[in-house]
Amino acid sequence: MKGPVLTIVVPCYNEEEVLPETSKQLSAVLTKLIDDYLISRESKILFVDDGSKDRTWALIEKEMAINPFVKGLKLARNAGHQNALLAGLETAATQSDCVVSIDADLQDDVKVIRTFVEKYRDGFDVVYGVRDKRETDTFFKRATALGFYRLMNKIGINLIPNHADFRLMSKRALNELFKYKETNLFLRGLIPLVGFPTTKVFYDRKERFAGESKYPLKKMLAFAFDGITSFSITPIRFVTFLGFLAVIISAMAGGYAIFQELAGHTESGWTSIMISIWFVGGLQLLAAGIIGEYIGKIYREVKRRPRYAIEVNAYSNMALGKQRL
Ligand code: UDP
Ligand code: MG
Repeated sequence: MKGPVLTIVVPCYNEEEVLPETSKQLSAVLTKLIDDYLISRESKILFVDDGSKDRTWALIEKEMAINPFVKGLKLARNAGHQNALLAGLETAATQSDCVVSIDADLQDDVKVIRTFVEKYRDGFDVVYGVRDKRETDTFFKRATALGFYRLMNKIGINLIPNHADFRLMSKRALNELFKYKETNLFLRGLIPLVGFPTTKVFYDRKERFAGESKYPLKKMLAFAFDGITSFSITPIRFVTFLGFLAVIISAMAGGYAIFQELAGHTESGWTSIMISIWFVGGLQLLAAGIIGEYIGKIYREVKRRPRYAIEVNAYSNMALGKQRL
């Protein structure tokens, strides 16, 4: 029996230190799955070079020459993790029945891919890899992540806690996902919206195999903020609520000031004026900032700019842009 064609998509940004090992481990997983007749022989690993500045693409080309599983997709510029992943998914979906996405750094347990495939064969369209323990992450990263999931859930965004971008998706689920054309891409928030039968698989998250995290604090905060503002208008409502609160407090303070004035204690006026000016001014700034954030988002969305550009597509053997004769 010919099993489903699986493609493993791996976004890579400056991953020269881990790439050969990642390729080796993923190939071993594919070989085993093929030998056990769980997937088709045409299954592949698709490395997406997200405009790396190091030797990542050269290593992908080298792997392609020696390893029949390996295919490469080279983006023309750094498009960011989410866009690079989307580029890989869109490319892989053309020739696969199901696609697994995984980071290049081997933090996710490659052995779990087998369970993903089994779940897919049981009829699930989306299989989420969920980290059981996060012991290898720093306390800071764990605490901020926990806070983030709590906040997201509170404001009504359905996220799978402790799930990063390690998952399997069927072709039909992917095709639904591709209909979401938003520029501010936050796949983890979108995929639960797609629907279809879904399940979770738990695993232990490990230390990065080599190299450094490409998500420093600044990027992590931007990512979290993007996630919130792309999926929810609760922050705007919260600001409106704060505005109401400020008006009520100011009105009460105003009443008090007038009462003091009438009673003849006028010298206390300076403090209350200063406080209310700063308070209201601060609120206005906050409100303007949050509204500005949404307007910025709308601005980016309406331009409908392409989310990534492909320079070399070695998955379907087409060289785009620069033709090599
Ligand atoms: N990545 C990418 N483009 C970027 C940044 C990161 O393709 O602009 C890739 C990176 O190579 C890795 C994955 O996204 O495969 C996740 O990044 P990383 O492991 O550094 O994030 P962390 O696990 O520290 O959150
Ligand atoms: Mg990582």
